[in-house]
Amino acid sequence: MNTLAVTRETEEQLFFHNYSRLPIAVTYGEGSWLVGDDGTRYLDMIAGIGVNALGYGDTRLEKAIAEQAGKLIHASNLFLMRPQFELAAKLIELSGLSKVFFANSGTEAVEAAIKMARKWAVDHGDQGKNEVLSLSNCFHGRTYGAMSLTAKQQYVEGFHPLLPALGMVDFNDVRDLEQKVSDRTAAVFIEAVQGEGGIHRVSKEFCHRLMELREKHGFLIVADEIQAGCGRTGTFFSYEQLELEPDLVCLAKPLGGGLPLSAVIGSEKVQGVLTYGSHGTTFGGNPVACAAGLAMIRAIEEDRLMERARETGEFFQEELSKLRERHAAITDIRQYGLMIGITVEGEARHYVERALRHRVIMNATSRNVIRLLPPLVITKEEAQRCIGVLDELFTEQENGG
Ligand SMILES: *Cc1c(COP(=O)(O)O)cnc(C)c1O
Repeated sequence: MNTLAVTRETEEQLFFHNYSRLPIAVTYGEGSWLVGDDGTRYLDMIAGIGVNALGYGDTRLEKAIAEQAGKLIHASNLFLMRPQFELAAKLIELSGLSKVFFANSGTEAVEAAIKMARKWAVDHGDQGKNEVLSLSNCFHGRTYGAMSLTAKQQYVEGFHPLLPALGMVDFNDVRDLEQKVSDRTAAVFIEAVQGEGGIHRVSKEFCHRLMELREKHGFLIVADEIQAGCGRTGTFFSYEQLELEPDLVCLAKPLGGGLPLSAVIGSEKVQGVLTYGSHGTTFGGNPVACAAGLAMIRAIEEDRLMERARETGEFFQEELSKLRERHAAITDIRQYGLMIGITVEGEARHYVERALRHRVIMNATSRNVIRLLPPLVITKEEAQRCIGVLDELFTEQENGG
């Protein structure tokens, strides 16, 4: 007998109270659908927070994981392991960059990139060059370095003192960028499309100026592609659409096909930055996670999922624009492939809670933004269903429901 109830009440007893979980015990999933233990099927428009690019139950992924798990689950970076090599080679091919470091989570990739940036500056003989800049409204993770870079007050409150020598540039503000960067700048961290910040894309103009200033002051540009990367916006890296040429790139969320995996990819310029013993992690580049990641990327290529993300994304844009004409509560729509933000009047949370009653899982970020990060495999019919439910929610709201 299983006497342990998987409910919100038991959760309160067992866990620290840092998550606001939905009251659904999930058991399995199929495609874009997540199934609760009472058999209820939910259309999942958040896909494990942007992790499940292939949706649920992709057999290629499951097979790759089972095969690798049957051979070797872990050996550590004391050894050479084929799955790591193959995934690293693939990431170098996709990015045109030179070197890969594997870790286990987004924040660890950011942490490694912060260390690399400072080390790179010191290696170039400049002890005073240690300042790391990020953009207002950014999100880079929860460990000390990454958290220190992160904009939201809510994430840093109670955790001071933070990492020193950090600064923040106003989002897309070229003037502010020009004033804030200097010869003391070691790196500028940038999400080409901000995720937690509410789905906002950096302008091409900002990226161009950033690259010019890099020439002048000699700092690194670090692209945090943890949420926007791996094809979600219609290209493998979201910065490609902005003609940005970063020195370091962080990947995570979908990279391990649902298993914990992250990577930092670096250009030739930084290829010597890590020396023996200067950085590392026990689990980083776990062979099962790497095999899963490789299967995930192959599936994206095989099924042309980046093209599909572009097409389905455009469909969302068209349909949501129609909704906007009818519902005054929608004040803005931002769509980059399958990264979609809908700004609403009032609290986005309110809509997310109601969507659940219609069996659609959405997510709120940045207080007034409904965020959709559906799996790349979502069909037009499924997208239409999500839009239909949004239509109903806004109608209910207008009728005072
Ligand atoms: C989620 C996220 C992170 C942090 O990743 P974790 O795996 O949760 O540590 C960092 N940057 C961006 C842009 C993210 O979306």
